Amino acid sequence: MKHRHPFTGHDFKIVERSNVLQQDSMGYPLRLCICQCTKCGKTEQQWLDTSEDALQELDDGRSVLLEWTKV
Ligand SMILES: [Zn+2]
Repeated sequence: MKHRHPFTGHDFKIVERSNVLQQDSMGYPLRLCICQCTKCGKTEQQWLDTSEDALQELDDGRSVLLEWTKV
């Protein structure tokens, strides 16, 4: 019998990375990525820590910075 959801939980791996960055309260960049669980195949979008070098992508247009506006 195959256990699709063992108690250890999902095991997400990045399958796609976007060109959208967000900075945390300390200014460190996060990138919106699509991750897929190697156990059950579930996919979801996650904000993942990325290197500070990613901020250079904002200067040359390879990536954009997510901006929030109060409504
Ligand atoms: Zn899973």
